[in-house]
Amino acid sequence: SPSRSSVIIVGAGVSGISAAKVLAENGVEDVVILEASDRIGGRIWKEEFGGASVELGAGWIVGVGGRESNPVWELVNKAGLRTIFSDYSQARYNIYDRSGNIYPSGLAAESYKRAVDSAMERFRNGEAGSLLKANPLPSIAKTPIELAIDFMLHDFEMPEGEPISTFLDYGEKEFMVADERGYAYLLYKMAEEFLSTSDGKIVDSRLKLNKVVREIQHSRNGVRVTTEDGCVYEANHLTLSVSIGVLQSDLISFRPSLPRWKTEAIEKVDITVYTKIFLKFPYKFWPCGPGKEFFIYAHERRGYYTFWQHMENAVPGSNILMVTLTNGESKRVEDQSDEETLKEAMSVLRDMFGPDIPNATDILVPRWWNNRLQRGSYTNYPIISNCEVVRNIKAPVGRIFFTGEHTSERFSGYVHGAYLAGIDTGTALLQEMRKLETDGKGQ
Ligand code: FAD
Repeated sequence: SPSRSSVIIVGAGVSGISAAKVLAENGVEDVVILEASDRIGGRIWKEEFGGASVELGAGWIVGVGGRESNPVWELVNKAGLRTIFSDYSQARYNIYDRSGNIYPSGLAAESYKRAVDSAMERFRNGEAGSLLKANPLPSIAKTPIELAIDFMLHDFEMPEGEPISTFLDYGEKEFMVADERGYAYLLYKMAEEFLSTSDGKIVDSRLKLNKVVREIQHSRNGVRVTTEDGCVYEANHLTLSVSIGVLQSDLISFRPSLPRWKTEAIEKVDITVYTKIFLKFPYKFWPCGPGKEFFIYAHERRGYYTFWQHMENAVPGSNILMVTLTNGESKRVEDQSDEETLKEAMSVLRDMFGPDIPNATDILVPRWWNNRLQRGSYTNYPIISNCEVVRNIKAPVGRIFFTGEHTSERFSGYVHGAYLAGIDTGTALLQEMRKLETDGKGQ
């Protein structure tokens, strides 16, 4: 029969690792971490592309410089990761129309201000006081420049767009990780404190990679987990950190099924798909001076290759551009060939920079929506969503404890949300374990 541990943790992303760390620090060492992919990090994911390290998932520490200190910012600095400040405020002065002309700065600033004012007004007329992440209410944007700014404010989440609790608590600055070890190095540094490592790799047998959990049986006495390769693991408790998209899919079946209040809450959550496409060029043809890192393409279709960034500040000499797509546009490019996407992106770049620019020599298109281990990029709780939905998503079911960015009331969608959620769930589980212990002794 399978050996039994105290806790099984499903998923080795930020929240799974931070939950495991809390348990280890409190003497619970007999845990098993089951991770479906072949690496730790989850939605923190570095790849080598065109001679540089690029972040397919989270790239920024969002929320720095405010009245409270962002715990992930502290960890990043402790780990010694190189970061660079992202000055988005300049982006509005680099908005190109389809003929390659930059909109005059006066007009751009005015359009930006109008869009911010109207976003604030819509917010006030909606559910003022809610600190959940906002969902853009229907906007008044119509012209290409208005649509581009609307995309920046809402899909790209400029701090002026909505009063998001991350910006309110931790500040409005954002820093991008620009370190060849990648954002995931942070995870490694956390894991290193309680898992054995050798030569910069985790070699601890409690971390089991390539283990896709397919079934979770649970009862008053414990849990029994079956993975795709037919292994069975048993434990007293389980911490489940898979994304809300995975919970909405049928990848994992529960026996008995999860209760109605839980499945209904899970179904209510909307997921944002956010795609960073990387393009490699033989040489630079875009402006690179101060204030030029971010540039915008204004098209009559909202979100059509709108938001661009050159990677020269992050990785000088890399000749890489990144363009961000979201939701409908993300799903559309996921379903077509990368060749097709490259053609579209090149035609957009030729609109902005003229017909003579060189073709990209390589392209990287992450597929978060079609990845069965993710099914999207992060939760997008509507502004009117009551906290009960989040509370129900987070609440344990018997011996199954839920964690992940989607269980964070204030910081869902972010790395720090996932990190704090892991600590929260780990702490709640410890309390439960202690309670069961005293109850047991009292009998
Ligand atoms: P995950 O990292 O998803 O961890 C869950 C783990 O479970 C994964 O490793 C997965 O492989 C595993 N898993 C899934 N199914 C199974 C199964 N059946 N069996 C076993 N294991 C399973 N946040 C920021 O703060 N700043 C940013 O700049 C930022 N940008 C982002 C850009 C993109 C493209 C994406 C996708 C996300 C971004 N985020 C950003 C959000 C941030 O990455 C997430 O909020 C955070 O990493 C989520 O951590 P998690 O532990 O909740 O989930």
